[in-house]
Amino acid sequence: MTTSYPRCFNEHIETMPPDQLRLMQEEKLRRQMAYNYERSAFYRRRFDASGIKPGDIRTLDDLAKLPFTTKDELRDSQIEQPPLGRHAAAPMEAVIRVHSSSGTTGRPSYVGITRHDRDGWTESIARVYWAEGVRPDTILAMGFGLSFFVGGIPLQDAVEQIGATFIPIGTGASDRLITSIQNLGANQLTCTPSYATYLAEYVRSRFNMEPRELGLQRIQVGAEPGGGIPEVRKRIGEDWGAFITEGIGNADVIPVYAGECDERTGMHLVAPDLVVLEIIDPDTGAVLPLDRPEVRGELVFTHIDRECVPLVRFRTRDQVIVWTAACPCGRTGLRLRCVGRTDDMLILLGVNVFPSAIKDVVMSLRPRTTGEIQIVLDQPGPRVDPPLKIQVEHGPDVSNLPDLEREIEGILRDKLIFAARVELLPSGALPRYEMKAKLIHKAYEQ
Ligand SMILES: [Zn+2]
Repeated sequence: MTTSYPRCFNEHIETMPPDQLRLMQEEKLRRQMAYNYERSAFYRRRFDASGIKPGDIRTLDDLAKLPFTTKDELRDSQIEQPPLGRHAAAPMEAVIRVHSSSGTTGRPSYVGITRHDRDGWTESIARVYWAEGVRPDTILAMGFGLSFFVGGIPLQDAVEQIGATFIPIGTGASDRLITSIQNLGANQLTCTPSYATYLAEYVRSRFNMEPRELGLQRIQVGAEPGGGIPEVRKRIGEDWGAFITEGIGNADVIPVYAGECDERTGMHLVAPDLVVLEIIDPDTGAVLPLDRPEVRGELVFTHIDRECVPLVRFRTRDQVIVWTAACPCGRTGLRLRCVGRTDDMLILLGVNVFPSAIKDVVMSLRPRTTGEIQIVLDQPGPRVDPPLKIQVEHGPDVSNLPDLEREIEGILRDKLIFAARVELLPSGALPRYEMKAKLIHKAYEQ
């Protein structure tokens, strides 16, 4: 007998009509602005410097009056006033846990949460994982790192909140992960897309079996843009014989705030009661109105129900496509797909190129390639003089390497409109990553 479960974890919020949603968000926004002014030295200074009173921010459109908050500013604020920064709005005795956001360079930045913040995170992540098919009868193997990383303990809280069975394995223990899936009959796995790809190779070489024989029904991927690359997703699905969905989050905002339903038409933003989203032009900072079916730009978030580190107009640096039309599943939230990081974006003769798009092209040539790539930059981006140097792993049966190099360069020129110089390397030559895959090698840093 199969149990029937409701379609949403929180039907009320996830299917709320847009006009009603807006009223709820604006009421919460006003409350949060007053709170930030009173409790956060960083935001009080911001408001005063721009001559704005918290009461001037009454509607979602009013947000555009305020400056953006950047990751660099949060880092500086934390150095200036440790441990959590001048932007923190709750005393340490109210903070129950601190996470680290995996900074790309330099000092890690820390994120504190109060009990209330923790409950908000749990609720948001539970809504996402429910949308991605986790139910009380799920046995979920955890393949994300469990320590400081926000994709660890907060995810455990959420899976347990759903009532599913959580198997806390984490990264760096591939043998134990596969053995636990076998011994405990795990039917779902959550990890990065690069780890899912790595694990498939691992199962074949170390367990001498096909990954699909493990019987996983679903794999939820996240923490890097790979899950949104059609060819990457197709390969993971075929390797494991599982239904692949993708989620997205941000350590400074909410660990996981959007995920796909079974329609797989983009990730539903499921926490409109916790954050307000804006899409901006990354070059000009102009807000792009969401009055069209599809909008592309950088994702910006404002917390509307956060105690410890509420952020106002935080630039995530994630480049997304947002779809505004309703989804057949009944959820009313906007749907989005991440196409890359603003920081990873390269510009070749005025053309924007994302490493994930290059990976997609190379994946489509399997088995003549392994799908693994590395872009080599001799100087800091984003502007790169063509041709762009790309290392690509070729498959075992390729005899004419120069021909394949020219072919890949030709496809990149036709599809992505830039000049590349491809260097083929044997299978296994490029580094593999359990956590976030690094597609760019900064040769100038050595
Ligand atoms: Zn849906």
